[in-house]
Amino acid sequence: MIRIIQLRDKCIGCNACVEASASRWRMSRKDGKSVLIGGVNNKQIFSVIVGDDEKPENLQAARNCPTKVIQIIQI
Ligand code: SF4
Repeated sequence: MIRIIQLRDKCIGCNACVEASASRWRMSRKDGKSVLIGGVNNKQIFSVIVGDDEKPENLQAARNCPTKVIQIIQI
């Protein structure tokens, strides 16, 4: 399994994570930042645990994120 973490405060709403993994990320109509689908909020740090099957596309999301606010941790 992997834990996906998003430091959402620093998201600039570029859409790159959605392009990498449309099933795990979406854009918010409210504030224009991305939303980690299924993510739990702890002081604007969102995280979710998912299966390894989602690892490649979310590693791509992390790599493509221009502000480097996405982290992927193997657990
Ligand atoms: S790639 Fe990074 S900066 Fe761009 S929308 Fe996703 S989390 Fe925000």
